[in-house]
Amino acid sequence: MHSSKLVAGAASGALCLVLCGCAPRESATPAGAASGPAAAANESADEFVTRVNGELTARAQEAQAAGFTLDTFITPDTQLLNARANDRYLAYLSKAVAEAKRYDAQKLSPATARALMKLRLNVAAPAPDDAQKRARLTQLEAQLEAKYGEGKYCPSGPASCKNLDQLAEILATSRNYDELTEAWKGWHAVGAGMREDYTQFVALANEGARELGFKDLGVMWRAGYDMSPEEFDAESERLWQQVKPLYDGLHCYARARLERRYGAGKVPPGKPIPAQLLGNMWAQQWNKIYPDILKPYPRASIETADALLAAQKWDAGRMAHSAESFYTSLGFPQLPKTFWERSMFARPRDREVVCHASAWDLATTGDVRIKACLKPTEEDLFTIYHELGHVYYFLSYANQPYLFRDGANDGFHEAIGDTVNLSVTPAYLAKIGLVRALTPSHEALINQQMKMALEKIAFLPFGRLIDQWRWRVFSGEITPANYNSSWWELRRRYQGIAPPVPRTEADFDPGAKYHIPDNTPYTRYFLSFILQFQFHKALCAASGNQGPLYECSNYGSREAGRRFADMLSLGASQPWQDALEKLTGARRIDAAAITEYFQPLMQWLNEQNQGQPCGW
Ligand SMILES: [Zn+2]
Repeated sequence: MHSSKLVAGAASGALCLVLCGCAPRESATPAGAASGPAAAANESADEFVTRVNGELTARAQEAQAAGFTLDTFITPDTQLLNARANDRYLAYLSKAVAEAKRYDAQKLSPATARALMKLRLNVAAPAPDDAQKRARLTQLEAQLEAKYGEGKYCPSGPASCKNLDQLAEILATSRNYDELTEAWKGWHAVGAGMREDYTQFVALANEGARELGFKDLGVMWRAGYDMSPEEFDAESERLWQQVKPLYDGLHCYARARLERRYGAGKVPPGKPIPAQLLGNMWAQQWNKIYPDILKPYPRASIETADALLAAQKWDAGRMAHSAESFYTSLGFPQLPKTFWERSMFARPRDREVVCHASAWDLATTGDVRIKACLKPTEEDLFTIYHELGHVYYFLSYANQPYLFRDGANDGFHEAIGDTVNLSVTPAYLAKIGLVRALTPSHEALINQQMKMALEKIAFLPFGRLIDQWRWRVFSGEITPANYNSSWWELRRRYQGIAPPVPRTEADFDPGAKYHIPDNTPYTRYFLSFILQFQFHKALCAASGNQGPLYECSNYGSREAGRRFADMLSLGASQPWQDALEKLTGARRIDAAAITEYFQPLMQWLNEQNQGQPCGW
C-alpha cells in the first residue's frame, strides 16, 4: 500500500503491506503558483518529457527524504518540513499536467505518449483548475483523513473511548456476540460524519478528472491498465468468476462453523454471515478466527518459525539478511551498503516513529530503504521478505526515466514480495534452520492451506467490490441517496455478508474503511492477490519444479530469477501485458494458478460442505 499522498500515482516511493492500515498522514496542500516547470518556448513533447522527468526526480527526492525523516522521527518540525516538501512536489506536478495539455492534439512517439499518460495519472484525485475549488478539494481530503484517523467510539464519556486499534482487537479476539456487535457499530459510526464531505469530494474530484479529459474519476483510475475502462471492468469480473467457486466453498464452511459456535438464530443457514463474526472489522480476511473456530484439524499442528527464531536469538538485521539471501539466490545483486546504513529495522527507544512496514525509493539511483519495527516472529519474517520485493523492484527499474519507475500496473508492485513468500515453504524454512524437517501429514497440509486461504481467498470479493462501488459513485450511477444501501448490496452479493444491525442512509459505512476517505484505489490488491500465484507458477516452471504448486520453492533458481528480473526491469515503461508476458508467456491475468494452488483445500471443502445449504 502507498503510505503517502505524494506517491498516490505513478511515482512510487513508499509502499507497505496491503493490510498495514497505514496511519493517515499530513495532508498535502498544493501551493498554487509555486515553482512549476519553466516552460521553454517551442519545447517539443519529447523535450518536455525529458525535462519533467529530471525535475520530478529532484522534487521527489526532496519529498521522499522529508517523508522518510518524518516516519522515522515524528516531531512538529518534521511534520512541517514533510508537508512543505509535499506541497512543492504536488504544485510542480499540477503545473506540469496543465502544461502537458498543449501536446494533446499532437502525434507523439509511444514512449512520450505513455510518459504523458503516467504524468496525468500521477494523483488519485486531480484538482480542478479553479483555485477556490482546488483549495476546497484539499481541505476535504484533509478532513476525511482526519475524521478517519481520529475516529473513536466513546460509549460512556471520554474515559471510555476506544480507537480503531482497540476496536479491531475486540473484533479479532472476542467471541461474545454482543460485544462484537457493539465494537462493530462503534467503529462504523465514524463513517456517518464523512458522508457530506465525501459527497462534495466526489463532485470536485470528478471535475478535476473531466478537466484532464476523462469522463469521471473512475474512468481515469481505469485508464492505467492499458485497455478501455469497459474491457478492464470485464477482465476484473472474469477473474472474479474464476475464483468464486473457491470463495463459495470457504464461505459455506465458515458459516457452518460459525453457526456451531453462535447458533442458527445468530448465523442462519443459507443467509449472509453477520459481518462482525469473522475476526476483522471489514470481514476482509478471516485468519483471526482460524485457531479456535475455523481450524480444520485441531490436533494437527503446523510448526511455525516462531520458536526457533526466538531460541536462536534472531534480530531484525539477521531477518533482513535472510530475506536478502533469498533474492541473491535468484541472482539479484546484494543490497547497497546505504540500504543497511539508512533503513530502520527495529523500533527506536528514544523517539516516535511510524512502525507500519514500508519500502522506500529515495529517487536517487540505488538509495532504497525499508522502515519497519521487526520482532523475531514468523509473521515479521514474511513482512521483511515482502518489503524486499518492493526494494528489488525499485532497484530493477532504477535506470528507467522517472515517470516509468513504477510497477507495470498497480497490482504488480504488491505482488512481487508476496510471490517470493509463496516460496517460503516449510521445506525452505527447514533448509534455513527455522523449522524441523518433517513431512507434513494430510491434516497439517489442510490446516496450512486453510490458514492461507483465510487471508488470500477470503480477501478476493472484498478486493473486487470496493472499486465496484466507487466506479459507480464517480459515474453517478450510485447517488448520495443510495450510498449506503448500494454498499451493502455489493457486500452481500460479493462477500455474502450482512450488517449486524439494520443500516440506513443516515450511515456511511464505506467511510469506515481507510481507503475510501484516503481515496486510494483498491482494485490493485485484488489483482495482486491473483497475480502473485500466476507469477509463482511461472517461476516454478522456470525452476523446473515437478511437484504440486504449494510445495514449490524457487529458492536458488537462477533461471527463475532471470525471468523475474526481465519483467521487473521494465518498470512501467511498457504496457503491463508485455511485462506479464516476459515472465509468464501469457498476456492475460489468469486465476488458474491460485485455483491450482488450493486444490487440496478445494477438494476437502467440497467434502465438508456435502449436504450443507451453501450460498446466500
Ligand atoms: Zn507492500
